[in-house]
Amino acid sequence: MQVYYDRDADVNMIKEKKIAVLGYGSQGHAHALNLRDSGVKEVVIGLRPGSGSIAKAEGEGLKVMNNAEAAAWADIVMVLTPDEGQAKLYAADLRDNMKQGATLAFAHGLCVHFQLIEPRPDLDVFMVAPKGPGHTVRSEYARGAGVPCLLAIEQDASGNTHDIGLAYASAIGGGRAGVIGTTFKEECETDLFGEQAVLCGGLTSLIQAGFDTLVEAGYAPEMAYFECVHEVKLIVDLIYEGGLANMRYSISNTAEYGDYVSGPRVIDAGVKERMKGILDDIQQGKFVRDWMLENEAGCPSFKAQRKASEVNHIEEVSQKLRDMMPWISENALVDKSKN
Ligand code: NAP
Ligand code: MG
Repeated sequence: MQVYYDRDADVNMIKEKKIAVLGYGSQGHAHALNLRDSGVKEVVIGLRPGSGSIAKAEGEGLKVMNNAEAAAWADIVMVLTPDEGQAKLYAADLRDNMKQGATLAFAHGLCVHFQLIEPRPDLDVFMVAPKGPGHTVRSEYARGAGVPCLLAIEQDASGNTHDIGLAYASAIGGGRAGVIGTTFKEECETDLFGEQAVLCGGLTSLIQAGFDTLVEAGYAPEMAYFECVHEVKLIVDLIYEGGLANMRYSISNTAEYGDYVSGPRVIDAGVKERMKGILDDIQQGKFVRDWMLENEAGCPSFKAQRKASEVNHIEEVSQKLRDMMPWISENALVDKSKN
């Protein structure tokens, strides 16, 4: 595995480049503000006319153009709009407007790897994918640290795409934590698997099942919340800091014994079998095909599930308990009015 740091990168390579960041959401605001703070002189945000994000970007003193204008103006176009709309965006605004020999960049390999976008051959194409949410990419950078990034090169018409990509990764803070070389395929498939099986899908389902089990057995929802939701962070902080062993060092012997005897009863061989099925659906392109079809149909199932998750019992209890712990919101990463 190839890992690069700030000392391997030359941020000067992009300081004079015109960089268009398309989208000003989770990743968009973080990339744009970090690039500017790293000395990139011309950063423009590309947005659709009427976008609610225009005021947020302008509120930070950033210049906003529409996508097509930004694409025609830029030397580097970083696409930070939602994955499901990127193919249409490329076809409508980028393909015929980007300058000859310009650079097209992504923060996730999905559209290129699954060939929803086939970039013009004259373009350099790289990916810098931060391994963390956009709000963390900004907050870590602002405190002088950074979020590790993955770097991959898909097309190298100019011969210096790697160095430009590395300079970009460094400018958003990745070089402070480590920039790992990979491919669009590897990033995309492992990212989708991780978020589905473990981070988002797996964890939320595990939390939900634990919470429901206690509540259905007659325990107070507040107790169930503390045990199965709130404490997840405290445990994960220990794992993040020093791995599973560090966490097990800190918990009681009773908790550790329970971990060994009950963990494998919950996550048994059947779970791993089904995880393999999930990975297979991702590798074969079934997951992405289903997700794009869902979008074509206007996201009926996605929207229904999102709505249903909002009225979840955990959400009600969590709001009440968070109100009792005001320090949680004092350092909130997400401020929906600004980013
Ligand atoms: P997001 O927050 O959902 O992006 C929303 C922004 O995109 C809004 O400013 C939205 O403005 C704008 N937008 C939507 N459609 C647009 C269009 N057609 N033209 C211009 N702007 C448009 O997206 P994200 O989660 O940051 O993800 C961006 C990329 O980063 C994706 O490829 C994702 O896989 C990758 N990534 C994300 C994370 C993360 O932390 N979220 C982590 C790693 C990689 P309007 O809707 O107002 O137009
Ligand atoms: Mg992901």
